[in-house]
Amino acid sequence: MWSWRFARVAGIELRVHLSFLLVILLGAWQWGGLGLRGAVFGIVLTLLTFASVTLHELGHSLVAKAFGIPVKDITLYPIGGVARLGRRPKTPGQEFLIAIAGPAVNVVLALGLGALALSLYTRPMLEASLTNAHANQPTLITLLAVMVLSNVVLAVFNMVPALPMDGGRVLRAVLSWFVGAEKATHASALIARVLAVGLMSVGLFMSPSNPMLVIIALFVFVGAGQEVNEQRLGRVLEGVQVADVVSPYAPKFSPATTLGEAVKMLTMTHYEAIAVEHFGTLLGVVTSKDILRAAGEQGAWGYIAGLVRSEVPTVEARDSLEVARFKMSEASLPFVAVLREGLFLGLVTEMELAVVADRLSSAAFRRDGAARVGQPNRIA
Ligand SMILES: [Zn+2]
Repeated sequence: MWSWRFARVAGIELRVHLSFLLVILLGAWQWGGLGLRGAVFGIVLTLLTFASVTLHELGHSLVAKAFGIPVKDITLYPIGGVARLGRRPKTPGQEFLIAIAGPAVNVVLALGLGALALSLYTRPMLEASLTNAHANQPTLITLLAVMVLSNVVLAVFNMVPALPMDGGRVLRAVLSWFVGAEKATHASALIARVLAVGLMSVGLFMSPSNPMLVIIALFVFVGAGQEVNEQRLGRVLEGVQVADVVSPYAPKFSPATTLGEAVKMLTMTHYEAIAVEHFGTLLGVVTSKDILRAAGEQGAWGYIAGLVRSEVPTVEARDSLEVARFKMSEASLPFVAVLREGLFLGLVTEMELAVVADRLSSAAFRRDGAARVGQPNRIA
């Protein structure tokens, strides 16, 4: 929502959020005391800082892709970037490498820019710019010094061991090798929450107070809880085969089903996605939203044939619900088709995942787990 696509790298969409404009204005204002040249310099610095953030996210994303994890997109927000991965890493080793790749990019950038600065200027000049970077004139050495500093800050800040930040993921991965994924997630989330409360207190009580720190602390506190839910949900879903939750009573349509018949069916069931078959062959899927919208436009005598979405992700009958969830998340669709030896058994939708998660998990999890079914993994 409210974001524009500005580039595509290695098949990954790069997007920028509308609120990003504020950060650019802030950059111009920070250096605006030095006149128009200062303002332009501030904008260039802001854009270069976010280029570093983008490269950080690409670091995570390219390593994830190397492990076969699809990356949906990278979005830049004022407090940083977010890469949406199609599914969670399979092993602690994968999680470790994906998490550390982002900060590693910033370390490489800081070293590279530092070396570039040293090849152009003397060491004392660079040291003076580094210690007093923001009070300097808008020159190339100031630019290099600020970029070295921002990349160091990005690397250090992201390595704070607070889930869901990169350092927290690295911590969880390392702990997982010793105590298993579940205990590691709980321990990392606890550490993250303690750190978040500390960070929040600092942000609130320092003078002047720092709202940015408070926002980041809140993000960490909430995010740590979501990681625990996510891990628990994954474990629950891994234990159930998709074939066991395909409902034999789920309605099925044929291309000749009219919108009127379809609407009537929807009033009697709770299904949000319905298979369209022709003599036992799956043609595609229609969603209840599409049916209701089309019925409003075309009336009861239109056919559902025009609404069929033919690109349906599939899973095998023996796959787990966790696999089904990954496939839905990858395709950004709330359903998958279940096949047994090529024959269509039925659909599994987000609703079945939510019901299973709800039935099998604890009361505490019930509060907020189901709402997150199908959400992809986010990595900052
Ligand atoms: Zn990161």
